[in-house]
Amino acid sequence: MENKFDVVIVGAGASGLAAAVEASRAGASVLVLDKNHVPGRRILSTGSGKCNFSNLKITPAAYHSSSPVFIKKVFSALPPAEVLSFFEKLGLLWVRGEKGRLFPRSLKAQDVVSVLLHELEFLNVPIHTLTEVLAVSAGKDGFSVESVKVQPKWDKKAPAGEKTVYRAGRLILAAGGACYPQIGGGAGGYGILQSLGHAVSPLYPAIVPLKVKGNYIKELDGVRLDAELKLRRGEQLLREAAGEILFTSYGVSGPAVLDLSRAALSALREGPVYIEADFIPEHEFAEFERFLAERAAAFAGRAFSHFACGLLNEKVMRAAAARAGIAWSAMVPPGCARGLASALKSFTLEVAGSLGFEDAMVTAGGCALSEVEPASFASKKVKGLYITGELLDIDGDSGGFNLHLAWTSGILAGRSAGKP
Ligand SMILES: Cc1cc2nc3c(=O)[nH]c(=O)nc-3n(C[C@H](O)[C@H](O)[C@H](O)COP(=O)(O)OP(=O)(O)OC[C@H]3O[C@@H](n4cnc5c(N)ncnc54)[C@H](O)[C@@H]3O)c2cc1C
Repeated sequence: MENKFDVVIVGAGASGLAAAVEASRAGASVLVLDKNHVPGRRILSTGSGKCNFSNLKITPAAYHSSSPVFIKKVFSALPPAEVLSFFEKLGLLWVRGEKGRLFPRSLKAQDVVSVLLHELEFLNVPIHTLTEVLAVSAGKDGFSVESVKVQPKWDKKAPAGEKTVYRAGRLILAAGGACYPQIGGGAGGYGILQSLGHAVSPLYPAIVPLKVKGNYIKELDGVRLDAELKLRRGEQLLREAAGEILFTSYGVSGPAVLDLSRAALSALREGPVYIEADFIPEHEFAEFERFLAERAAAFAGRAFSHFACGLLNEKVMRAAAARAGIAWSAMVPPGCARGLASALKSFTLEVAGSLGFEDAMVTAGGCALSEVEPASFASKKVKGLYITGELLDIDGDSGGFNLHLAWTSGILAGRSAGKP
């Protein structure tokens, strides 16, 4: 009898922990299972350890799915402000960052995890870590949840392999997406969903660093700068983003690139696609060209490297000069302003692909939304089953939107599953 619970939750991540709080508050006996050694492991890695846990501008337009009406119904059932009230009641203070992003006031992701864990401790909800769910079967009286004890990589003496079967009246599948396998991501949750009869659409990484074509990019490795980015196919503008771009040995990353990445990868499936970076967004082209022409006149007869010094990062100036056909060690060529302005205001990169799930922050694709109730995240196919978070075929832009959806789905699922 000890392994029988009203509600078993697979996954102690963002949606699973929020669901556990609400299901327990609704009066249910709740058990949470997670294969990681600590609950909330992924939350700790979010926002570079600061956890961008929500946004002041949550809107359906920030989400991508095959059913835009689904997210509207979700936010009617739980308006975004109520998620903030949920955290406020847990004791979390927050601060506002750029573009409405919300962070815990301490700027520590650990505090977001801790307020949830403190509440679960107060509610006496057990969390079994290092416990991987292998299979779930649904019967007349609920669910049978097969699990195995996982050995942590650093402790080869720890007991492992012991199997336990839990019984659950209702089951919340909150096992997360396929990203970052190094901290618990994987396709296991989707496999369980399929075994229960749910349709899963193809998965692909979204919010992910991009690979670009061309050797020049290696020379820019390590450069960070602010830019305005335009994603283009020929003359067609597909998406814009602004913010920091980080050049790496394989391509580009940084917030502005991550913002574009989903659209870039989706467009790449149809044909070549380009990112045009404007490194001088504060000036119109003509104004900047005039400025460069005046500067070139002032540096006439001197090395181009002297002219370039102090304008922008040297590596960027070298790459732009190469694109404009200007030799770095030669004299400042007359009439170089237009070509250089063009190279700096439309620095074009051809997208070659992404770094894949290993480095992606979100999984696009997943459980068909037509098979899930938006007001409760209950399965329409399996009675008593709830599906939350990244497992669903819906993903948000970067900026706190994905965690916000995880909390929202967890809260709604927990409230419904926890009802007597
Ligand atoms: C590096 C990184 C940074 C990010 N930063 C942000 C950010 O700042 N803001 C934002 O909004 N979003 C961010 N995200 C995305 C966000 O973390 C996820 O969208 C969100 O955590 C999804 O919540 P979830 O409950 O679906 O899954 P998760 O939070 O991933 O939780 C799933 C849990 O299930 C467990 N699990 C999986 N399979 C099993 C199994 N078979 N048995 C037992 N347990 C299992 C996993 O160990 C995990 O703990 C980031 C993601 C990454 C990878």
